[in-house]
Amino acid sequence: MNKIELLAPAGDLERLKTAILFGADAVFIGGKQFSLRSRASNFDLATIQEAVNFAHQHNSRVHVTVNMIPHQDDLEGLDEYLIALDAIGVDAIIVASVYILKRAKALTKNFEIHISTQYSITNSKTIQFYKKLGADRVVLARENSLSELKLLKEHSSLPLEVFIHGGMCVNYSGRCTLSNYMTLRDANRGGCAQSCRWNYEIFDQKTTISDEKVLFSMSSKDLNAIDVLPDLIKMGIASLKIEGRMKTEYYIATIVSAYRRAIDDLYKGSLTSDAVVLAAKRELLNAENRETFSGFYLSQPNRSGHLYGVNGANVNQNFVAKVLNYDATTNLATLEIRNHFSKGDRLEVFGPTLKPTSFVSQKMINSDNEITHRFFKPMEVVLLEVPFVVNEGDFVRKSLL
Ligand code: SF4
Repeated sequence: MNKIELLAPAGDLERLKTAILFGADAVFIGGKQFSLRSRASNFDLATIQEAVNFAHQHNSRVHVTVNMIPHQDDLEGLDEYLIALDAIGVDAIIVASVYILKRAKALTKNFEIHISTQYSITNSKTIQFYKKLGADRVVLARENSLSELKLLKEHSSLPLEVFIHGGMCVNYSGRCTLSNYMTLRDANRGGCAQSCRWNYEIFDQKTTISDEKVLFSMSSKDLNAIDVLPDLIKMGIASLKIEGRMKTEYYIATIVSAYRRAIDDLYKGSLTSDAVVLAAKRELLNAENRETFSGFYLSQPNRSGHLYGVNGANVNQNFVAKVLNYDATTNLATLEIRNHFSKGDRLEVFGPTLKPTSFVSQKMINSDNEITHRFFKPMEVVLLEVPFVVNEGDFVRKSLL
């Protein structure tokens, strides 16, 4: 039985490396052209080449999104771009246009072609249709329930990819023009301003039926599918996708390592499914900055899956420092500070080779080489006594326990 793929997002090369080192089997990135989020992308062709080299050295894969819904004047340079991606050695491209799929089939021979969730695939006949056109995988709509996924798996011969974590659209994934209307930014060409999360006043003819105290928004809670992870593995889904190319390095590290450990533990079978899910749930909380729910998997979303009147995004201040170095003779770790913490705070360190391990902060030395009781300056390089070996690139966070 092939092990299920854990697929993580990366907005730049640093986050790509973090995702891979923390356990992603594959990473999806957007180039500067033909991609949703292309506006925010740091991946030009040279950087995509670096990303592919790094991923392949670590037995990981790179999928490149070519998933905008192209208008007539968006197509210039498409052939050259596809040929360049093929030559670089990317493992897959993700498309949301039959024309781009056909050009890729005609011009390239090395990468797989995956059908984007933008196509909202919810039935096996559609999967069959894209298979005939040459697709190698489909990314299903987020709007499928678990029982629908089982049927799709039974009746489809293409590998299936599903979302397990991250942002949801309150409209049909991406098929929404709210942002176009409110900000002139096209959600399907990478410009969504998340206008659904704004606060609105509601009018009935000329009467305001909500006032500033009862503002309305249409925001969905974020997806968290950890409860159905054992089911997704059992039914033979090929790939589990985490959303969030705009998310931070800390978020990526936390979410990827939580799912990595849960997947590995489920395959090993040494713990019950319930125990694995419970441990992962606790771990995922460390990076949560919006409320989450199980999306469409367990039931049709209702009021409890929405956020009314609030954007819901809180700043997560759990991440306090990144490890730059460790001196085993003095037990002093060199840290780069991200958020404040004090002497006596319970902290945890976790990394690619270190399970979350906690300790209480004691000896603290600031950048002026003075003993202190509090670190609070972002990016200050300091020393902290840590009673076990930590490594460059490990993350330090406040313990939730
Ligand atoms: S405005 Fe909201 S619902 Fe519309 S595409 Fe953006 S995130 Fe999705």
